[in-house]
Amino acid sequence: MNEMFLLKLGELVLKGLNRRMFEDKLIANAQRRLKAHGDFKVYTKQSTMYVEPKHDGCDMDGAWEALKKVFGIVGLSRARACAKDADAMLATAKTYLHGQLSSARTFKVEAKRADKTFPMTSIQLSQYVGGELDDAFPNLKVDVHHPELTVHLEVRDYAAFVHADPEPGAGGLPVGANGRAVSLLSGGIDSPVASWMMAKRGLALEMVHFFSYPYTSPEAKEKVIELARLLTPWCGRLTVHVVPFTEIQEELRRSCPEELFTVLMRRFMMRIAQRVAFRTGAGAIVTGECLGQVASQTMEAMRCTEAVCELPMLRPVVGMDKEEIVRIARKIGTFETSILPYEDCCTVFTPRHPRLRPVLGELERAEAALDIEALVDRAVKGIERIKVG
Ligand code: ATP
Ligand code: MG
Repeated sequence: MNEMFLLKLGELVLKGLNRRMFEDKLIANAQRRLKAHGDFKVYTKQSTMYVEPKHDGCDMDGAWEALKKVFGIVGLSRARACAKDADAMLATAKTYLHGQLSSARTFKVEAKRADKTFPMTSIQLSQYVGGELDDAFPNLKVDVHHPELTVHLEVRDYAAFVHADPEPGAGGLPVGANGRAVSLLSGGIDSPVASWMMAKRGLALEMVHFFSYPYTSPEAKEKVIELARLLTPWCGRLTVHVVPFTEIQEELRRSCPEELFTVLMRRFMMRIAQRVAFRTGAGAIVTGECLGQVASQTMEAMRCTEAVCELPMLRPVVGMDKEEIVRIARKIGTFETSILPYEDCCTVFTPRHPRLRPVLGELERAEAALDIEALVDRAVKGIERIKVG
């Protein structure tokens, strides 16, 4: 084993008694993501997670990229193993970190010993290796306060490791550590970002998409499946529950006032999402709503939507500007797919003058004409489940 990864665990370090559970989740999540890249040994020690390839054929670059997307990890270092000997560590630093050592202007060496029988103290080891590197690389000056590059040496029980500064990880909490939620995934920019944000806070997600065939095309559905697939490197394997929504929309158009259409439709979405939540053991509903962005996203409309739902509604992008949401969408890789021009079920049925401040009583009166339970039952029965990732 020549190279391995050292991962710094995030907030879970603070979680006291839950820590074991959080760590186990993180290890399981990391192992699942690593599978495609070979056989790895994964374990934690002192708020560091160690990932070691079990054989030479492991795809280290693929594994590295995959681990950067695992929530719960705040920093990642690629480390080279060598003999527990000062000159072996020096030689390893010179070759393994050659590129960084040649381009930096200032540096320092930081040594740590888990193996206290090692004959030098940490300070002696840093000074020795630091002095030699300083001589070997004329571009380098020692700066112990604000170095551009820190060379880390770790003397552990069975080997020594050499690595440079960690790169930032995905942060957050391990997916599943905070339970499960249903996330409403449309084809837009906001809901994939909202899903990603809540997965980052440790929620495992069940995706729900309302599909209005033939008003929306099979391509529009494929686009949503693709968005879910793009989220899987972050969220893990996902199920997309595709709900047939056309009957409900046609029924609303037939029997309810047009200006209430959007909010009435959203109330049906929440009723159905809640059914999926109860079936899958989810404890909340996530949406990509953003205050004031469209007519159905006023406080009054949100209140009327929430009224049919006993589970908490989580709206992580509610206070964000569009540019902030777009920045995240680009970073996580969903933006380009989100802007593909397929119609979604809301735009097809958008009223000309939607009511901005709907009142609950008025909605309930409009719904009195409908057999709500039967409509919801039929939609739930018609759900198609598509697994991605
Ligand atoms: P997005 O960019 O996520 O599509 P939006 O700005 O278009 O959001 P709306 O169309 O009002 O806003 O939808 C608000 C939220 O309701 C979405 O973010 C999503 O969570 C949910 N939603 C809307 N349409 C659907 C749909 N067809 N299937 C599943 N969820 C939907
Ligand atoms: Mg939308």
